[in-house]
Amino acid sequence: MRAWILRKSEDGEFSCQLETLDEAMLGDEGQLVDVAYSTINYKDGLAMANKSPVVRSWPMIAGIDFAGNLADGPNAGQAVLANGHGMGETRLGALSTRARVPSDWLIPIPTPFGPLHAMAIGTAGYTAMLCVHALEDHGITPATGPILVTGATGGVGTFATMLLAKMGYEVMASTGRASEEAFLKGLGASQIIDRAELSDKGRPLGKERWAGAVDSVGSHTLANAIAQTQYGGCVAACGLAQGFDLPATVMPFILRGVTLAGVDSVQAPREKRLRAWNDLAKLITPAEIEAATEVRPMSQALQAAGDIMANRYKGRVVIDVRAEG
Ligand code: NDP
Repeated sequence: MRAWILRKSEDGEFSCQLETLDEAMLGDEGQLVDVAYSTINYKDGLAMANKSPVVRSWPMIAGIDFAGNLADGPNAGQAVLANGHGMGETRLGALSTRARVPSDWLIPIPTPFGPLHAMAIGTAGYTAMLCVHALEDHGITPATGPILVTGATGGVGTFATMLLAKMGYEVMASTGRASEEAFLKGLGASQIIDRAELSDKGRPLGKERWAGAVDSVGSHTLANAIAQTQYGGCVAACGLAQGFDLPATVMPFILRGVTLAGVDSVQAPREKRLRAWNDLAKLITPAEIEAATEVRPMSQALQAAGDIMANRYKGRVVIDVRAEG
């Protein structure tokens, strides 16, 4: 099998290479999958650049999500996807022509999607859907008020903007890329906010501007998102693109009853995953995905990882693991 493998030598030297590996390293437990596509997430960027302690077991196959087909068993050929569960961190990952994982990690790819669509949505789209569900489960509806999306041109942000707009929400999209206003409005954002407005230390309580937020940025941005959430609102926090700190006060919680909902895609229970993927299949069409997706060969995965770290991404990049390019 061909895979991107991350190694650390005894003296701590890191390497990341595309290699031909013996499939025996996958072991013989779990379901064997012929991987067709993977994608590059922020976490893959960190892991492939050895930038933060994402990888906790060595050697590691990179990649936190894949889509493909069951390679054997009674349902051989069935199209499946998997996200998270520690793949690419503590369990051999997804940037590989083959993977072997516990069968309950595998989600049948919902109609009308195929493996390409599943990975174009990827962990980013699935996490955005989990965030939207967190707001809905809090009782927020389009009538409650607008929703702030931070990191709006990023993977999670793009999907959150698109999904919320399709569901009838008014979306306020915060971005550092003013040049992407037309792109974000095309996704359905009704207002664009310069991210600089939110990225510095703010007041403990600000003017109530939104009913809720989907935040993939963390740090001061998250603190300001919370401080400007209207009475009884909810902020779904899933990321740390600005930082993992949360320099906030308790004021929005104790004076406005604001809820901070943590969203984790990695260990999310199966029911949450099925709900998210089923709703994604209802809200997004294959044609929309295809129009926004660039397919790159396996050999370009490292370059794509560098691009996501340098904030050079827009739209979706899917890695065709079988294409060497
Ligand atoms: P991307 O890199 O695609 O998007 C992040 C976006 O955040 C950027 O596009 C940029 O948007 C904005 N941004 C980047 N740097 C800064 C900064 N210094 N200050 C403010 N904004 C910044 O990453 P993803 O969308 O894939 O992931 C976003 C975050 O969510 C990551 O931290 C990731 O680890 C996390 N994540 C968490 C998951 C979970 O299970 N909890 C699952 C998936 C992702 P713009 O240019 O528009 O301002």
